[in-house]
Formats: sequence, C-alpha cells, structure tokens
Amino acid sequence: MSKIYIDGKWPDKDQAKISVFDHGLLYGDGIFEGIRAYNGRIFRLHEHAERLYESARGILLEMPMAIEQMEKLIVQSVRVNNLRDAYVRVVVTRGFGDLGLDMRKCKKSTVIIIADRIELYPDFVYEQGMRLVTSALRRTPNQTLPPAIKSLNYLNNILARAEAARAGAEEAILLNSEGYVAECSGDNIFYLKKGIAVTPPLYAGILPGITRAAAIEILQRQLRVPVKEELFGVVDLYQADEVWITGTGAEIIGIKEIDGRKIKDGRVGRLTKNLVKLYRGMTTSTGTPVYEADAVAH
Ligand code: PMP
Repeated sequence: MSKIYIDGKWPDKDQAKISVFDHGLLYGDGIFEGIRAYNGRIFRLHEHAERLYESARGILLEMPMAIEQMEKLIVQSVRVNNLRDAYVRVVVTRGFGDLGLDMRKCKKSTVIIIADRIELYPDFVYEQGMRLVTSALRRTPNQTLPPAIKSLNYLNNILARAEAARAGAEEAILLNSEGYVAECSGDNIFYLKKGIAVTPPLYAGILPGITRAAAIEILQRQLRVPVKEELFGVVDLYQADEVWITGTGAEIIGIKEIDGRKIKDGRVGRLTKNLVKLYRGMTTSTGTPVYEADAVAH
C-alpha cells in the first residue's frame, strides 16, 4: 500500500486523512504542484519547488519548512514507495481553522505529498493528435485570481474541461477576459506559423508552465526555431501550420482539430513530433536522482 506524507508522518493511503475543518477543503485555500519522476529521476524538481513557494507567497501562506527540506521530502516520497516512474502531487493547505474565512484562525498549514503511478495518455493520442474546443468560460483574470498562482481553486479549469468532454474533445482552450488565447485547462499552448513558434506571454494570465519553459529551450537551442511570446486569437490557431500543448502530465501533444477545424491536414506536425522526441530525451536523461545507484551512474 502506498505511503502518503502528511505533516511529518507517512501513513498508508487508506489512513491518510485531513480534518473537515481544513480550509483547503472548506474554501480551496491552498496551493499545489504536479511533478513527475522518470526512470528514478525527478524532472525539474527545483523549478517545481520554486513555483510552489511562489504560489505560497502569492496567497500569504507561510511554508512550514525550507525549500531544500521540501525538495528532500518530494524525493523521499518517490523512494519510500519504491517508484521509478511516478506522478507526485504536493498539496499545501491553509490548515485546520474554523468555519470563517479568516486565515489567522489557521495556525499551521497542512503539507501532503502523494507519489503514485502515473496514468499516461494512450499512445494513439500522441500519434494521431488531440481535439480541442474553445471554452465559453474565460480564464480567471489576473485581477481576480492570477493563474500564475497554482491554487486549490481549480473550478474554472474543471468546468472548462467538462465542456470539452461534452463536445468530444480532450482539452479546452480558455481565452482571457480580453478574448486572447490564454492556456488550456491543465496545459499551455503553442502554435507554429511560417517557421516561428508562438505562445501566449505570462501577462496573458497563464500558469508559467515548467514544460512550456522546457519546450521553449528545446525550440531555441536544439531546433533553432524562433519563439515569440505574444497575444493571439483563436483564429490564429485555426490557421496555424502546427499546434501543440505542453504540461507535466501530457508532456507535449500535437493538436489535430480545434472547434471542428482541422489543423492543416489534421495530422501531428513534423516539428511537434521532433519536440515530443527531444522532450522525452530530456525527461529521461536529466533530473534529481531518487536512488543512490542512479546518482553514482551519472
Ligand atoms: N496551465 C495550467 C492551468 C495547469 O494546471 C498546468 C499543469 N500544472 C499547466 C498549464 C502546465 O504546467 P506544467 O508544464 O508546469 O505542468
């Protein structure tokens, strides 16, 4: 049975419980991260930990430990569960309080780390591409709840994803309040037009994706493709040469259709295929080792 970290203890999965007075449950008052381990190495651990601590600062949440300690616990969560390929979910809630909104009543945040096997998208999605639809819901604007804070308030994303599912698509595109493309419900988005890759800038109101950053690095350094971060509309996506999404769970997935429009010939593009391959190379050859044997071997 898998072991879950909760506030200094490692109970079995079925014993891992939090209070019904936890403000994470009562109000979605908390933050989280989704991290992956590949073949005994945690991919971009420090970047994920930094984003977690930035989210904490964004919601005035005091982290109960130093970032180095958090990184050690994340590594340990994979090790105690004997995993080599894993998905790690770190959740930090405001903690136990009363039924009021006042965060000062919550004396100590709750830290939860779940390391589990990863559920992958089936191979045919990578080969044939994914369908997207544009959601009627707009992404929570920076003026309301900045998407750069990875908070436990994910209903905006969940409702957009539900719309996609009802329309027979796997992911939803969310526009920002000005009508520019922001991101997908759990992924960032890029398109390629005339040899230039374009992705929304952070000020569009998006999560600064760690896979997005890795994709930009691969495009610029390995593929020598210029990358522009600029605002664009959904029509730019319809008319693109290639479209792909990036995310820790999805990695990089090509898009074959958006709102019923085929992207080019409706197949995963050549550059997207190269990106998928190079990103896989990066995830399997870099990262923080979980086991000593891997640390020695490299
Ligand atoms: N946008 C949103 C809203 C997300 O939830 C995620 C997944 N964490 C992403 C983008 C992709 O970010 P990352 O590449 O860091 O997983």
